[in-house]
Amino acid sequence: MSLPKPNPRPKSRPKPGDLQARLRSAYPDARCALDHADPFQLVVATILSAQCTDARVNLTTPALFARFPDAASLAGARLEDLESLIRSTGFYHNKARNLIGLGQALVARHGGVVPADPAALGALPGVGQKTANVVLANAFGVPALAVDTHIFRVARRLGLSKATTPEKVEADLCRQFPREDWIELHHQLIFHGRRVCDARRPDCSACPLLDLCPVGLGKVKDPHLGMKLQVPASGLPTSALTPLPPPSSSPLRIVSLVPSVTELLVQWGLAAQLVGRTRYCIEPRWIRNSVPTVGGTKDPDLARIRDLAPDLVILERDENPKEAAEALTALGIPWLALQIRSVKDCAAALRQLGARLGVSEAAEPRAQALEASLKGRRRKGPRTLALVWKQPWMSAGPDTYMGDLLRQGNLTPIGPDGYPVLSEEDLQDLAPRLILLPSEPYPFNRRNQAELQKRLPAAEVRLVDGRALTWYLSRTEEGLELARSL
Ligand code: SF4
Repeated sequence: MSLPKPNPRPKSRPKPGDLQARLRSAYPDARCALDHADPFQLVVATILSAQCTDARVNLTTPALFARFPDAASLAGARLEDLESLIRSTGFYHNKARNLIGLGQALVARHGGVVPADPAALGALPGVGQKTANVVLANAFGVPALAVDTHIFRVARRLGLSKATTPEKVEADLCRQFPREDWIELHHQLIFHGRRVCDARRPDCSACPLLDLCPVGLGKVKDPHLGMKLQVPASGLPTSALTPLPPPSSSPLRIVSLVPSVTELLVQWGLAAQLVGRTRYCIEPRWIRNSVPTVGGTKDPDLARIRDLAPDLVILERDENPKEAAEALTALGIPWLALQIRSVKDCAAALRQLGARLGVSEAAEPRAQALEASLKGRRRKGPRTLALVWKQPWMSAGPDTYMGDLLRQGNLTPIGPDGYPVLSEEDLQDLAPRLILLPSEPYPFNRRNQAELQKRLPAAEVRLVDGRALTWYLSRTEEGLELARSL
């Protein structure tokens, strides 16, 4: 992209006509990024795209539409079948329920056909204003301007809106631009947000809108990052943000010492860059045959790691020993250590990893969705003891990631902090109302459940999916759903 000549006295907001001319020449190919063949496929794909990248949705929908090609087949789908097909798009319990409800509503109210009427569309299960606008615009050519995370950010940076909700930003944009241009503008702003105006690292020096942008020229604070972007003496930014490390090429040879991070990297499409994993990094199953192991999480084989010549090793401070990081430093191998003790930490870690691995586009919506899910008042639910080991009994305390997950799910985690050993008397004294027996790290089974239930008859003892509760990042959304369902 060529650099435009800077305007020495930029206006606080660009003229709509100037902006459209620039966007048209920069993004002549701007179009809907969700693959679809008809309105039904588009409404399904748009529902799946909530808190998920379009690329991930496009990987998911071919198998989904092969199995459920129309509203009638979706209406009769079994929940488990649907969940297994859309699992990788996140929040799959809710999405699957909405899709079945969508199929049933389309059959019952519209003869199995997606309506082109905004009110009828908006009344369908899982279809909010944004989804309705996307479907109206792309399937029926009805002028609409759905504001997603990219448009929200770019519009505010360009000074087109000061509003703090997508609905108000949408109203501001619709007021300023001709109705017949809304669909085109929607796609152009999304392309611009994805390709240039990144959430964390806007590439202002290569931006085709630079001389029109008050934020890029350092005139006003970036409303998204809450700080001014640095502008050098020449008036042109050479890099977007000084507090971040200088941009470097994304790592090509990654060793992951954290099982759930390994799974996350595969979810982000980085499997080809994974050159090493611990023997506990076993999801998805197929990596067991294709990515070599480098020991365990507590005792990584440093000689093996060195031989693999990685340009990044990923660790987690509680999961891996600090000596491993020290040894990597001595070997001159770059590493990145996360620290995760809460759901909030997960949002920060997603952003940190996304920026380092060059996949902020995949990381940011997920981080934002997690943060959004933490808002609102929590109820103080039943006193809940999460056991993680037997002989001796050990629990996950309130200050651990699992403790926070339970708290966010409106339960009240109890017991000492950390991972304490508990005696039989401790179990009685804690008087839990709910006892959770996860399937890992200790493989609790029905016999353990029955034994414990006999000893503590006042408590409800439940077997639960251990990976949902302990695999942070790759399964945090699943863990939240599980905790809330309890
Ligand atoms: S100049 Fe920078 S902040 Fe402004 S639109 Fe371009 S990339 Fe975004």
